[in-house]
Amino acid sequence: MFLRKQTQYWIFIGLLLLGFCGASAVMLTELRDDSWTTANTNAQNLLTVLSQDIENRIDVYDDAIKSVASKLEQGQLGDLSPALQQSLLFDQVLKKPYFSSLLVLDSVGNVVRDAGAFPARTDNFSDRAYFQVHAAGQASGLYISSPFRRRLTGEDQVVALSRRMNGPDWRFNGVVVGTLTLSYFRSLFESANLNENDAINLFSQNGVLLMRSPFSPDQIGRDLSGSENVRRFQASESGAFSGTAAIDGITRLYNFKKVGSLPLILNVALSHDDIWSGWRRQAITIVAILALLCTLAGALALTVRREFNRRAQAEARTRESETQYRLLADHATDLIIRLDSELTRLYVSPASREMLGTDPSELVGKAASGVIHSEDWPRVENVALEARTTGIPVEAVYRLRHKAGHYVWVEGRYRYVAEDDGFIVVLRDISKRKAAEGELEIAHAELARRANTDGLTGLANRRRFDEKLDEACEKAVGLDASLSLLLIDVDRFKLFNDTYGHQAGDECLRQVARAVKANASTGSLCARYGGEEIAVILPETDECVAHQVGERIRAAVAALQIPHLASDSGSVTISVGAATVARPAIQNGAELVREADRLLYEAKRTGRNRVLSAASPEMIARSPVLVNEEKRLAAVVDLLRRTAGKGDELNLIARGAAQLMGTPIGFVSIVGQDELTMVGRHGIDVEKVPRDIGFCSYTIVGSETFVINDVHADQRFKNNPLAQGPNGLRFYAGAPLIDPTTGQTVGAVCVADFKPREATSDAERNLLANLSCVATDELS
Ligand code: GH3
Ligand code: MG
Ligand code: MG
Repeated sequence: MFLRKQTQYWIFIGLLLLGFCGASAVMLTELRDDSWTTANTNAQNLLTVLSQDIENRIDVYDDAIKSVASKLEQGQLGDLSPALQQSLLFDQVLKKPYFSSLLVLDSVGNVVRDAGAFPARTDNFSDRAYFQVHAAGQASGLYISSPFRRRLTGEDQVVALSRRMNGPDWRFNGVVVGTLTLSYFRSLFESANLNENDAINLFSQNGVLLMRSPFSPDQIGRDLSGSENVRRFQASESGAFSGTAAIDGITRLYNFKKVGSLPLILNVALSHDDIWSGWRRQAITIVAILALLCTLAGALALTVRREFNRRAQAEARTRESETQYRLLADHATDLIIRLDSELTRLYVSPASREMLGTDPSELVGKAASGVIHSEDWPRVENVALEARTTGIPVEAVYRLRHKAGHYVWVEGRYRYVAEDDGFIVVLRDISKRKAAEGELEIAHAELARRANTDGLTGLANRRRFDEKLDEACEKAVGLDASLSLLLIDVDRFKLFNDTYGHQAGDECLRQVARAVKANASTGSLCARYGGEEIAVILPETDECVAHQVGERIRAAVAALQIPHLASDSGSVTISVGAATVARPAIQNGAELVREADRLLYEAKRTGRNRVLSAASPEMIARSPVLVNEEKRLAAVVDLLRRTAGKGDELNLIARGAAQLMGTPIGFVSIVGQDELTMVGRHGIDVEKVPRDIGFCSYTIVGSETFVINDVHADQRFKNNPLAQGPNGLRFYAGAPLIDPTTGQTVGAVCVADFKPREATSDAERNLLANLSCVATDELS
């Protein structure tokens, strides 16, 4: 189709150009004919004028000749004097221009009368052709000779005009002859102002060239009767033809005619080249203009065609892309919407049927807000505003109402189109993605929960605890709020496992964990700290409340009545250390744990199944008094008596303790009613210390080693004089000394240092406990 149109176009252009060329050719032909006709007409006119002039002039001369001849023939002169005869015959004759002489010859050729001389010049012209022609009677009337030079003057070339004179008996009686200078013809022809290659020729009837323009002296008198052209001149009275000149070989248009009744043939010959030179110039100009026009027309046609082609291709591309866009819009699963500046829908792609269950026609022309969830609409409006102000696409996730009533999650991409002052919105259904994200969130939460949960007890795990504790500490310190930590340890649990088995132990732990969780205050975090130890973080809880919570948990576990025959009470119990943030000593997680651990140890040491906190009566800064103090004091009095004389051994034990524990001080003390007596000493000179300030007063309360890693960090010894000053004690560890006879705790085997310690291991505690046993043995 396209090709056919192309061909038609070029055929049309070709025909148009051919038409131009045809019209130009016709025009040129006509111009050529006109040139020819004009030249022919001009030549004829010129021929007529020249011929007329020659005829007239020769007639005048002939009249003069005839007049002389008739006067002489008729004897009109009679007896007039010779001078009068001369005057009568020739008066005024030679005054005619170009008529150079007039002679009368007798029958033998002698000059008998001469218009130019009186008496006549003596000469004989019987040798002249004109004389002989007349003498022979070959010419009737006027005879015009071939050109010759006058003998009398010898000057210019002339032709003789002659008539025969007859005697009474028609005998030849002589000749009247006049000469006409050829310059007449020359000047006559030259007055025609012909072109260089044009010519005017005057021939005698017998084909001798009398005059020619352009003038060529050597050609004058030439007999051209043999030439084709001259033959044609001779053949008719007048005519016109094209022929090549014998003289110069130039092809010309010849117009010829006989000059009246005279024996002369005149022709005007116009060179073909000159006839057509004007036409040729015109033709060249026209052809050049035509060629230029054709070239321009061709170029224009080519440009137009190219433009057509370009447009056709552009239209085809536009159609194709429109089709593509239409197909894309119609079949894309994304919903494409065009909105005006007021957010009213101008176009809705067919995807709306699947996405929203609504036909596009139901949505077009309506406000976009119609199907957008009311909670999401302000956000969408902002997105449109942002897209308009920034000029870059902005995305938003929001809900659209499905025709069925439910909402569909979509991701909308808003692009502001400035030239349209509107928006192109592409909506993608992300319901599935949202659902998957939801599931993923749940899975993540579950994963996080699992990652943060202890598998056995269901409480938070140690990792979670550590995170939470640091966080809570920072917060509490930052806000100057209280924060407490309970560290819970199942009493004699190793024995529980040993007695009932590991699985029962696990079950026991689960029950304990449940009881802990159920009795911890809201907002707290219960975590399995490790083994059978549980930690509870209590935000915004001071030591008194923490103590109460600990006590509540302890009671709840005890109330479970889980049998534990190997324990002191017969059922499972727990011990609790309850520490509280107290600046500057306790203000981070590690310090809080250390304090809780210390208190837990203390709880264990002082009998188990108890809660120890800064608020515990035992922990108030005064030395504890035992319940069975009287029995104990009686044992002390008895023991002090028995120690007399055993100082060296006890000193040795004190030194051993110091060396094994790596401390400068070691001692064995007996705690009396008001004072402590150092019965064995190493690195210390003091013999007695008031019971109120002695660390051993605390040691005797428990059955296990009592440790103060940093005296300064323990509230109970904040103002203790032993811990004050640069030489104050910072570390103390003491194992209770049991009286072998009464079983009462009478004192302690101790070590002390001026430097605090990070921690004291169980091995070290056991070491002191073992030394205490050695001392007991010594005292028994
Ligand atoms: P104490 O009163 O001094 O705490 O005595 P104890 O026997 O409980 O001593 P300790 O706390 O050192 O003992 C911890 C024991 O707890 C050791 C281990 O057998 C037991 N244990 C730790 N984790 C688990 C557990 O996950 N399951 C079971 N069944 N037993 C555990
Ligand atoms: Mg433990
Ligand atoms: Mg335990």
